[in-house]
Amino acid sequence: LLGPDGAPAPTIFAEMTALARRTGALNLGQGFPDEPGPPEVTEAAIRAIRDGVNQYSPGRGEPDLIAAIAEHQRRFHGISLEDPQILVTAGATEALAATLLSQLNPGDEIVVLEPYYDAYVALAALAGAQIVPVELHGPDYRLDLERLRTAVTDRTAVILVNSPHNPTGAVLAPEALDAIIALAHRHDALIVTDEVYEHLTYEAPHVPIAARPGGFERTLSISSAGKVFSVTGWKIGWVSGPAALIEQVMAIKQYLTFVSGAPFQPAVAVGLRLPDAFFEGLRTRYRAKRDLLVGALTEAGFAVSPPAAGYFALADAAPLGLADARTAVRELPGMAGVVAVPLGAFARPEREDLRSIVRFAFCKSDALLEDAAGRLRDLG
Ligand code: PMP
Ligand code: GLN
Repeated sequence: LLGPDGAPAPTIFAEMTALARRTGALNLGQGFPDEPGPPEVTEAAIRAIRDGVNQYSPGRGEPDLIAAIAEHQRRFHGISLEDPQILVTAGATEALAATLLSQLNPGDEIVVLEPYYDAYVALAALAGAQIVPVELHGPDYRLDLERLRTAVTDRTAVILVNSPHNPTGAVLAPEALDAIIALAHRHDALIVTDEVYEHLTYEAPHVPIAARPGGFERTLSISSAGKVFSVTGWKIGWVSGPAALIEQVMAIKQYLTFVSGAPFQPAVAVGLRLPDAFFEGLRTRYRAKRDLLVGALTEAGFAVSPPAAGYFALADAAPLGLADARTAVRELPGMAGVVAVPLGAFARPEREDLRSIVRFAFCKSDALLEDAAGRLRDLG
């Protein structure tokens, strides 16, 4: 986790956001929205602060938020949760940290889909566990079930699922989810699923692995308010699953942050109870943003993999003569006034097949995306 000089190596997101600030380029690197979030939700946080909700929350989270998470899981996914099956965390990141630290012992294996969200590998390293990557390949980044079957063995402690997937925007089909559940049962492994993009699906509604037959009993499901309510700085997330497993996660969580974000918790409860029209509107708006960016990148000459979900589009820069995305993203601010992230940052260096691919975020205002689209078209 340290760079060559012994200082903490910044994450690729922090590095690229600093590059955007320095150059004045449009930031399509780090995935955070620039819209304000639903007023009902932000006003509720302001009200909570004024009403004095400013001290430590109960360890497992504000009871009203726990109730709202349960209602949300039932409304959208048909999953019935009891109170002790839910734990509120400081974002999905703490949920991941507490879950993985509670479930992995040194030397255990954890199966991850590669490319992977950067925190997975860092957290596995903190736990002393060994990553077993299952390679996803472009242009569609579909899960190869044969490859998965060779990766999961009796040494596997955790199968880490991320669907919708960051950075590819791919979604696991129900058959893939069922294959993962069957392997988890066969090899006595736990499934940890990161579903922070659950409401940003553009082709078909999200299917949680915990809602599939046999899934719930061996799954810890993680989500977050950051993406769905455009409040990534609030850092309110949650993990749900069988009560005995939640207790184990809690044992770690209480010494990571103890609790966090007291006034944001009732505000997120308001958000989770918003009518269906809010969630449908979010999907419709983001689908249009995806199409705008995918169109501009295609016109500019990139080979684009249109994502089924999430915040990001992957674009191969090789047709533009840019063979190395790590170099290309450092030249893009000068060439096009746009910042993006190299896909290689989400994979082992040996993944040569990902070398020329760039990740662009489209969770931005239409005005900013139009501006970026114009700049990218000029590039072509
Ligand atoms: N998982 C994935 C796949 C993400 O993309 C992110 C961040 N955007 C997180 C987890 C972290 O979520 P949070 O900000 O709620 O900690
Ligand atoms: N999840 C966001 C992304 O993928 C960034 C989060 C972060 O900066 N750690 O861009």
